[in-house]
Amino acid sequence: MIIDGKKTAAELREELKKKVAELRSTHNAVPGLTVILVGEDPASKIYVKNKEKFAKEIGMNSEVIRYPADTEEKVVLNKIKELNEDKKISGILVQLPLPKHIDKKKVIETILPGKDVDGFHPMNVGNLSSGYDSSIPCTPLGCSLLLKKAEKNLSGKHAVVIGRSNLNGKPMTQLLLKENCTVTVTHSKTKDLKAECLRADIIIAAVGIPKLVKGDWVKKDAIVIDVGINKTDSGIVGDVDFDQVSKVAKAITPVPGGVGPMTIACLLSNTVECFKKLN
Ligand code: NAP
Repeated sequence: MIIDGKKTAAELREELKKKVAELRSTHNAVPGLTVILVGEDPASKIYVKNKEKFAKEIGMNSEVIRYPADTEEKVVLNKIKELNEDKKISGILVQLPLPKHIDKKKVIETILPGKDVDGFHPMNVGNLSSGYDSSIPCTPLGCSLLLKKAEKNLSGKHAVVIGRSNLNGKPMTQLLLKENCTVTVTHSKTKDLKAECLRADIIIAAVGIPKLVKGDWVKKDAIVIDVGINKTDSGIVGDVDFDQVSKVAKAITPVPGGVGPMTIACLLSNTVECFKKLN
């Protein structure tokens, strides 16, 4: 089974469009997402443009605040504080990476946890790991939804997460624990990654190494979710060798067209959730 992220994301956006229309008619208000972009990082500019496009497409209010790369940290922090107070704004996202002179931690901690649609605020990170209600980082949330397409009941499954970043590996681990998986978290110091992967019913690869996971690393009937987006001479590839692994695994996400499209759809979903909680 090839898990179609593009189709799943389109379905989620369609659902959200209906929810937004419903909120408009019942509350005479719609969720509002504000994205702050500092600098000229080319990839960030594309991501932000897409976030704005899809937010508008589902009927949400959406605004991008663009600052030049040399903007002082306090300007960004003051804007966040202003947005925290603004009743029309339900979600605030500061596009990462930030220029070096701006403290990422300070920026994230300034966002009101209830408007933190990225789920990076320590309060949301803590709530997620304590099993309480929280904003969930968009990419792992997307991975969970795709996993559910392949297998409804994940209880008791052995999941191997490759990578332990705050963005992907760690929140993914928490989501899998919530589903009653037994989770092994691996990273660059893991001694025998292939052996770990061979024990997995579920593999989540979030590493940043093109085609790291090979066909002979994967148990027959495993589900493989590939988070990787790696630019190579032959185009964008994932962290999984798709040609090899798709011959062995029960289900796999392609790159592109797998996890990638889910990330923005989940951002919009988080914005709707924040709106509901705030109102
Ligand atoms: P990251 O912050 O660089 O983290 C990479 C993780 O992989 C680290 O925990 C690192 O271990 C581990 N690692 C590195 N080499 C390894 C090896 N040989 N064996 C096992 N683990 C190894 O990366 P990230 O931000 O999580 O992103 C990972 C990938 O996902 C990238 O390709 C990125 O472009 C992609 N991504 C995709 C989306 C999407 O929407 N689909 C969103 C975000 C990111 P240490 O902790 O020991 O260093």
